[in-house]
Amino acid sequence: MLKNKEQERLALEFSQGWSYAPAPESTDHVQLQERYSLFIDGKFVAPSSKKYFPTVNPATEQVIAEVAEAGKKDVDKAVKAARKAYDEVWSKMPASERGKYIFRIARLIQERAREFAVIESMDGGKPIRESRDVDIPLAANHFFYYAGWADKLSYAFPNRRPRPVGVAGQIIPWNFPLLMAAWKLAPALATGNTVVLKPAETTPLTALKLAELIRDSGLPPGVVNIVTGAGATGAALVSHPDVDKIAFTGSTEVGKMIQRAVAGTNKKVTLELGGKAANIIFEDAPLDQAVEGIVNGIYFNQGHVCCAGSRLFVQESVAHTVVRKLKDRLKTLIVGDPLDKNTDVGAINSAGQLKTIRDYIALGKSEGAEFYESPCALPQAGYWCRPTLFTGVSQSHRIAQEEIFGPVLSIQTFRTVSEVIDKANNTPYGLSAGIWTDKGSKIFNLGQQMRAGVVWANTYNKFDPTSPFGGYKESGFGREGGLQGLAPYLQFD
Ligand code: NAP
Ligand code: MG
Repeated sequence: MLKNKEQERLALEFSQGWSYAPAPESTDHVQLQERYSLFIDGKFVAPSSKKYFPTVNPATEQVIAEVAEAGKKDVDKAVKAARKAYDEVWSKMPASERGKYIFRIARLIQERAREFAVIESMDGGKPIRESRDVDIPLAANHFFYYAGWADKLSYAFPNRRPRPVGVAGQIIPWNFPLLMAAWKLAPALATGNTVVLKPAETTPLTALKLAELIRDSGLPPGVVNIVTGAGATGAALVSHPDVDKIAFTGSTEVGKMIQRAVAGTNKKVTLELGGKAANIIFEDAPLDQAVEGIVNGIYFNQGHVCCAGSRLFVQESVAHTVVRKLKDRLKTLIVGDPLDKNTDVGAINSAGQLKTIRDYIALGKSEGAEFYESPCALPQAGYWCRPTLFTGVSQSHRIAQEEIFGPVLSIQTFRTVSEVIDKANNTPYGLSAGIWTDKGSKIFNLGQQMRAGVVWANTYNKFDPTSPFGGYKESGFGREGGLQGLAPYLQFD
């Protein structure tokens, strides 16, 4: 009898699918203040407005800390500190010494990697597996990589006498908070510039942790200043007359505003903007690997990735199989607590972003595309979106043209190589693309014809500090990473 009951229980468990036991990462080692000030001239200082705003954990909706809102006066103070540090210390320091400071920052990030990873997941909602294995190690690697260039600029640009630009204003988004800070700070410091950095409103905490670490590293005061706030703080930095260069990563809309704001000034600008990448699966591709690549490309980091493979093009002969395999895979994705080591898909970054994604899902349905979502349960509190896909999408649908920035995939089919090239390039964006095929010749052909800054072949979302990254068309201009990432922070004879 008992045996039958046990068999029944096992059968039920089997039919419902088995699940992992919770495996939450500990937060005991994390040290956070209740309130953060602005990091200006090597010290934490209160904002002149005395205003603070909360930063919340999007998985729980709980306030984690209060953060200072920098106004025009504070931005001015930060720019003045950066100018003074540039004139008096940083521009006069031998490049090899500069490099040592950058190495030290890289090592300190490695030492505190676990704390950074947990804070990144708490403040932004991304799974700990990603912040631990991708964001934080890559951030440290960017500092290591650019530290090495500091005293080798004349080899990087022979016969061109590279010189720093001066004071750089840097504005970053919320999807890779510490990594974007590293992408900005490391090359700027290696090339001898000083910096005022503005993190995104919803994810300021790892940048502020980095400020503590920079202070502890002994970097001369004023070389790096970090001013938190919302869009107005960024706008104040862009329009400040004593900033020599603006480096911006964010939406195309704000990128265009910045370009208008600096028109007619001497400011140098680089813009890393939105994307709507094509991920292309040919019939000769290893389909199971391709399905993993699709999942990694769009559901990774909740689709909060500028280069996300949000448009899937599948060759008609294998479309049915790929969509079936993809739906099966969606059912197994674990959505939930970002701090759980088994979680595949974490929380949507903010209530505002969740609304944007929901509006696009409703739009896709009303445009007539066929909707499918993972049947997974969602937590009660927090901002969540199930991994979702649309089939029967056509080129003119807005869900095939506009950046959604969420775990929403639009799927189209194609028959010939020239057809898929036309379709893939038919978007205002051009940040990245993916190609899955068994044939090297197809990879070379498509790789050359894609109007995209990065083209991955039989993989997706792979990053390395030595590779340049950046866009075509409305995805922006300028490159970050690699040797190419040095040039935007230099002037030449
Ligand atoms: P966003 O709204 O453009 O914000 C980006 C940054 O600009 C934030 O720090 C934001 O502050 C600030 N900002 C807002 N208005 C501003 C203004 N008028 N002047 C100066 N700064 C201003 O973008 P997001 O929604 O945070 O980020 C998502 C976008 O970033 C997506 O489009 C994505 O594709 C893009 N992205 C691109 C790359 C790349 O390398 N190409 C990488 C990552 C993300 P607040 O956050 O406080 O509003
Ligand atoms: Mg937050």
